[in-house]
Parts: sequence; C-alpha cells; structure tokens
Amino acid sequence: MGQKLAAGNWKMNGTAADLAEVEALKAAHPTSTVDILLCPPATLLSRMSDVAKGVIATGGQDCHANASGAHTGDTSAAMLVDAGASYVILGHSERRTDHGETDTDVNAKAQAALANTLIAVVCVGETEAQRDAGQTLTVIGTQLKGSIPEGATGATVVVAYEPVWAIGTGKVPTLEQIAEVHDFMRAELTARFGDTAADMRLLYGGSVKPSNASEIFATSNVDGALVGGASLKAAEFSGIIKALE
Ligand code: PEP
Repeated sequence: MGQKLAAGNWKMNGTAADLAEVEALKAAHPTSTVDILLCPPATLLSRMSDVAKGVIATGGQDCHANASGAHTGDTSAAMLVDAGASYVILGHSERRTDHGETDTDVNAKAQAALANTLIAVVCVGETEAQRDAGQTLTVIGTQLKGSIPEGATGATVVVAYEPVWAIGTGKVPTLEQIAEVHDFMRAELTARFGDTAADMRLLYGGSVKPSNASEIFATSNVDGALVGGASLKAAEFSGIIKALE
C-alpha cells in the first residue's frame, strides 16, 4: 500500500491571494506520514506548484484525452505536468453532470493521464435516487469497469468514492455504507487487476470535515479522502490531515 492520501479539490475557487493557505498548510505539515495533494483551478496550478514544492503535491481537476489541437478551453495532461502537477482528478460528478462526461470519456482521459505519468484520481459515486433504488453497487461496479483503463496499477490510479448526494451537502453515508462500497471496490479491482489492486488507494469523498474524518479513516478499505469545501482553508484541511496521520 502506498502512503495514505489527503486530497483537496478547490473546484472553481481560488486566486493568487489564496496561496497564503498553501503556505500555511506547508508550515503546519512540513513533513507528513501521508501524501497531501491540492488540486486548484488550472489558472493557479503553476503558481501553487511553486509554493507547494517538496511538501504538497498538486494536481489538475480534469484533462483532455487528446495531446493537443483544436479544443478551446481545454487542458492536456502534458500541460498539467508542465505546470507542476503530479495528479489529476477525473470523472468528478460535477464534470459528469455539468459536461456530460461518460465512463468512456473518463477512461480516455485516464489513459492520457497515465501516458503522461500523472496519477489519475478517478471518481465514482451513486446519486440519491440510485441509492434509494438499491442500485449503488451496480452503479459503482459499472463506473469502475468503464472509467479505469486497462493496465492501471496501485501506483498510477487512485479511486475516489463520492456519493453524489454527499458532495457539498453536509450529508455523509453511515460508516457501514462507506465500508460496503469500499470493500466492494477493493474486491472488484482485485478481480480485474490482481495483486496491484491491494496498493490502489481508495478515497472517500463527500462532506468530510475535521469532526468526522477520524471515524471515516478508521473504516474498512478507506485510504484517505477527497475533500472539497474543507480543503480551502489550511486550518480546516490540516485537521483532516492530522486525522489521517
Ligand atoms: C468534492 O468536491 O470532491 C467533495 C467531496 O466536496 P465536499 O467535501 O465539499 O463535499
């Protein structure tokens, strides 16, 4: 198993003034027993990478599947690397909803990420209606199968389970519900990828805060968190990192 991972997704938040939060986070965790990752908007990636260097890894929030070309507004995997990134979040539910990204799209983006030595943080998660209909594991199984490319290893892919209904809502699944999905994901990934799946980090995401982080991290097959709102302020994200350390 690689080191546990505390990943922050700043979404469409952050300008140069917010780099002070990165300085503060660095100062709070100059050395850590866990991997710390921040994924800012593309406009801030290069500057954040300079500030975070050596202590905090940085990542993109999406990449295009193609290497270059006529794709106005998009960013390639190589461009993220050029801006200092070592990770990229792919298939976040907001991308799936706002931009109609399918599992096939996410798979192609993940292939581009891996080809450029980026670690892909592939997001999966059911909607509230799907959970209510008893379809959670079927949905997660389909997303895993479709979104993660052949040849994925524990070193190249991280999976984030993010129930759509828990993102930014303050609602969190029970620990039993989290364990059920994470145990299922480990079994599915092991069946497909073999031994390397034991090293694939499985993150939980959805309304993680310092107050609920410890119990979530003590849950079966949870190797860290993907954090949205609570990653924007160093003091709050630090509380989550400490729960993982
Ligand atoms: C996310 O954006 O991936 C997320 C989990 O958001 P929040 O922590 O704000 O629920």
